[in-house]
Parts: sequence; C-alpha cells; structure tokens
Amino acid sequence: MRVTFKGLKSRPRLFYYGLVSLLLSPTCAYTADKIYNSSFPSRERKEFVEQFKIPLEGYRSDIEKENRIGLLTQVLLREKFTRDFDLEKIVVLSDNILKRDFGGQRYYFNSSSTEAAHTIPRDEKHKDILRLEESKPDFFILAVHHEIKHTKTFDVLEEDPNFEAKWKANATENGKTLYLEDISVLKAIKITQKELEQQGFVSVYSKLNWMEDLAEFCANAELNPDKFYSPMYEHNNQRFINKVNLAQEKRLIPQEFSQYLLVRNLYRQSFVNEKMNPARAREFLAESEKLLGSIYECELRERRGMIMTFFSQTQDSEFTLEDAIKEHKKGLLADYKDVPSYTLNLISLQGCYVFLRDYKTAEIYGEAKKEYPRNSNGVNDFLKERGIKIK
Ligand SMILES: [Zn+2]
Repeated sequence: MRVTFKGLKSRPRLFYYGLVSLLLSPTCAYTADKIYNSSFPSRERKEFVEQFKIPLEGYRSDIEKENRIGLLTQVLLREKFTRDFDLEKIVVLSDNILKRDFGGQRYYFNSSSTEAAHTIPRDEKHKDILRLEESKPDFFILAVHHEIKHTKTFDVLEEDPNFEAKWKANATENGKTLYLEDISVLKAIKITQKELEQQGFVSVYSKLNWMEDLAEFCANAELNPDKFYSPMYEHNNQRFINKVNLAQEKRLIPQEFSQYLLVRNLYRQSFVNEKMNPARAREFLAESEKLLGSIYECELRERRGMIMTFFSQTQDSEFTLEDAIKEHKKGLLADYKDVPSYTLNLISLQGCYVFLRDYKTAEIYGEAKKEYPRNSNGVNDFLKERGIKIK
C-alpha cells in the first residue's frame, strides 16, 4: 500500500507524518542499534561471533545483561558437541515492543503468549534464524535448546525423509494421533501428569504437534533428565523408550543418554541419608567409567571424585585423597565442560586442599571459581598461570 499526503490539509498532514514516524521509529532505533553493535560490538558479543561464526542481533541492553551471551555460549557448546548445526543468525527480541524491528513487532501481535522463541526455517538462500524472546535465565536456556532442536530436526529430515513418520508412530492411540494441532484446543485441555507421561509427553505443549513434541522432549533430555528415568526404567513406557532411541540414533540428544540415566540413578543410590553405600558406590565407579569421554564426563568425574573422597576417609580404602584430586582435575579437562559440574570440580578441589592444609593452593581454586563466570571456556589457563598443574 502506498501512502500519499497529496491534498491533505496542514494539520492532518502533520498527523500522518507523526503516525508514520511513530511506527517507523522503533524500526529505525533497532537499525541504529544494530549498526552501532556491528561497528562497536562488546567484547562478549565479539567473542561469541568469532567462536561460532553466527551473527548475534539485539539491543545491547537486552543481550549484554545477566550474562545472556554466556548462557547462549553454554547452550551452543553443548548442542554442537552432540551434533553440529548452522544458523543464519540469532536475534534476541526485546520484551519492549518499541525496541523491536518490524518483524519482531508483527510477531509480538501474532504470537500466543506461551511462546518464548521461534525459528524461521531455512529457504534456498538462507539458513534458519533463531528469534529468542528476552526472558528469565532458566526459561531462556530452555528456549534456546528447544529452538536448536528444531534446527537439528530440519537437518535430520533432509537426511531421512521418513523420520517424521517414525516419530509420529509413537504418538498414536487406537490408530488416532495424540497431537491436537490447534493451540486454542491445547490451551483448553485438562490433563494429569500421569496421563501426559503415559502418552509419552514431557509437557502439555508437546501435545501440539510432532515438531513441538520433539523439541520439548529433546530439550528436556538436556536440562531435566530426571523426567525420563521413571517412565523408561520403572514403568517401561515404550513411547518414551522409542523416542529416546530415535533421538539418540539421530544425535538429537547425546547418544549415551539412556545409559547416563542408569549411571545417574546408581549415584543417587550411592548415598542414603548422607551415608555412602559402598557396594552401590563401587558399582557407580565401574559403570560411569564407560561414559568417560562423553558429554557427561565433567559431571561424572565430579561425582567420582566425591565418592573417592568419601572412600579415602574409611580405613583400608583403595582410594586416597590424591586419587580424588586427580579425578576432579580430569573433570576440568573434559572436552565438554558443563558449567555447574565444572564449578563443582573447582569447589571440590578447593575443599580437598583445605583438608590437606594446603591453604595457598585452596585459595587459588577459590579465585578460579570467581574468575570462571568471566570466561565461559573454563579457567584452566588461569590455574596454569598460577602454577597449578592440571595434567
Ligand atoms: Zn517450538
């Protein structure tokens, strides 16, 4: 549509100028901010783009706050470890409508309030674009995993066109689909947690369609693995088992996931009321060894180190505190370092040296822990510079 001012009297003309500039100004402001950030990116944004070769768009006030870029880095490293993918760009949309570009504004009015992000699928000229709403950190992390699972699904579909049918085969009952395909029907539905689990879903939103089911299922496998143990290993839920197998086979989730759930449960059983069950703990040590080298190594080394510390306190133990220290150091060297486990390895090392009354070394680990949030790739170099031998 073309707007013409011809024939308008002076006041209405001014009014129309005002209206047009009001509508255009957020887009102009967005463009100005985009130009500014591409010319003078913050150190974090620059490092992110260099590391992943993916442009990052969004207001400085929305992205460079609450360690948003650090969170994005964590999720991308984790997802890329299991299966690589590529994106045209990542856009962080402001929750302030006046700070969005035109597409973001349109999306604001069209989207359902339950959505926190969306993926614009690829075409002949472009790769997928992730558009993330600015939200609370936990929700933000889940949303990024969820959207990357969509991107990976598009890749899988290009390799295996039958994949959709294979996934959907696990969401039927008496020959009928369990997907609702309609957001307003979904919003009105009443379903218990038990029913959801029986139907093979990890959330209510999963019931919308197979793509959302897959993204929810796989994102939760990364962040909430405990949702899977009981359906798979206590209730023998075939839908869960089949979906996990399919997702593992296509590396939509780590290929060691189902095995990891068993090892994770062994660890849980190794401690009852803060007391160690030595038989279970030894079983955990034996089984977890098979998963070293996987995405779970950093976490498992931390737990193995804890168990070795406990053993070292008992008489005639096969483990010493030195063994525990070695184990925690190996945790710091894991190829993939998840933030909570890497931090726990640092804390445990600090604790071990306090126990050995080597307060100087303990303090260095304490400083490394404080330094870590500023360096999302770990603080191994920081430790080496202070004379700590990790290897
Ligand atoms: Zn989705």
